[in-house]
Amino acid sequence: MSRVLIVGAGLTGSLCACLLRRELSDKVKIVVWEKSRGTGGRMSTSRSPSNMSCTADLGAQYITATPYYSQIHKSFYEELLLHDVLKPLEATIEGMMLKDEGSLNYVTPSGVSSIVKHYLKESAGAEVFFGHHVTHVYRRGSGWEVCRKGGSPEQFDVVVLTMPVPQILQLQGDIGSLLKDSERQKLEAVSYSSRFALGLFYKAGVQISVPWAAKYVSSNPCIRYIAIDDKKRNLVSDECGPSLVVHTSVPFGLQHLEDPLEEVQPVILCELEKVMPELPKPENIKCQKWRYSQVTGSVTDCPGQITLLSKPLLVCGGDAFTHSNFDGCVESALKVFEVLKSSL
Ligand SMILES: Cc1cc2nc3c(=O)[nH]c(=O)nc-3n(C[C@H](O)[C@H](O)[C@H](O)COP(=O)(O)OP(=O)(O)OC[C@H]3O[C@@H](n4cnc5c(N)ncnc54)[C@H](O)[C@@H]3O)c2cc1C
Repeated sequence: MSRVLIVGAGLTGSLCACLLRRELSDKVKIVVWEKSRGTGGRMSTSRSPSNMSCTADLGAQYITATPYYSQIHKSFYEELLLHDVLKPLEATIEGMMLKDEGSLNYVTPSGVSSIVKHYLKESAGAEVFFGHHVTHVYRRGSGWEVCRKGGSPEQFDVVVLTMPVPQILQLQGDIGSLLKDSERQKLEAVSYSSRFALGLFYKAGVQISVPWAAKYVSSNPCIRYIAIDDKKRNLVSDECGPSLVVHTSVPFGLQHLEDPLEEVQPVILCELEKVMPELPKPENIKCQKWRYSQVTGSVTDCPGQITLLSKPLLVCGGDAFTHSNFDGCVESALKVFEVLKSSL
């Protein structure tokens, strides 16, 4: 049995774990280390501190399947629809850009992290650890020694890194010396947008009366997108009030990137009031910084993965190796899986 470590429980890492479990379970023991306390990465779902059933998606909002990807990732869409993880988007999104004629949009009734949770559930037997922040990766004989903050190093036969590329490049140990100059250049050239997100949670019974479920804003330098998240996901609940999600513009994100959240949050709220002056006062607010939001410049030629070493195997994947959305992650996970399958 080979011991495979997947670093990151975002969509790419969780789908890699699921594919390994489904096709190579007799050959691998799968371990997932995720630095944060929950599943999802940039597909995470936040809960109101005063009502855990009141949720908001602060990262990815909806899944758009172009005709091309509807076809080539048909089985992935069918599976998620069958398990009610995805439902067709029915609500109105003002100002949504049509990517490709014939594209289908989906929402996640239980929040976008339910996609990632579905794949982790399908990886039954994989050991998933949260609060495991990888810091160093060393080559030791025919395997890898991986260190994490506040824990003992562990040995693995194969390592898969799925975090944003700048975080891969920050890892200490032997990764730096393994990188060929051409690979380093490719990875250093990857770029991301940065933005902030706010989640506003309301008490049950509060009404937000607008004719849309989400809208893109072009008239404000700070606010780019607003969603009445429960309405966007077609939820009806007596227990929860509405939840509202705000994404800032990328220029605003860049301008305030190093500012503390406590300083940025009131600035966003002040701008939100200009866009929605009638908005009631929320019960709770969550502010999130996405330093690595969406990939604006992928790894050249979008290879899906980069194998830093084949023996012992160390592979990098994630949306930076394709493009920043659901299909980009599926494409990368499939490419990583191909490499693992041919080597194990
Ligand atoms: C604001 C925003 C809006 C978006 N909107 C959409 C949308 O509407 N539709 C869509 O399809 N996509 C959207 N995206 C893009 C989509 O969310 C990403 O493409 C996708 O989630 C990337 O998944 P991933 O697994 O490759 O990376 P991530 O989700 O970044 O997963 C990597 C994981 O690695 C963990 N990690 C990092 N470093 C370490 C470490 N040292 N040790 C252990 N763990 C570590 C992270 O905590 C994270 O959980 C959006 C993203 C953002 C931020």
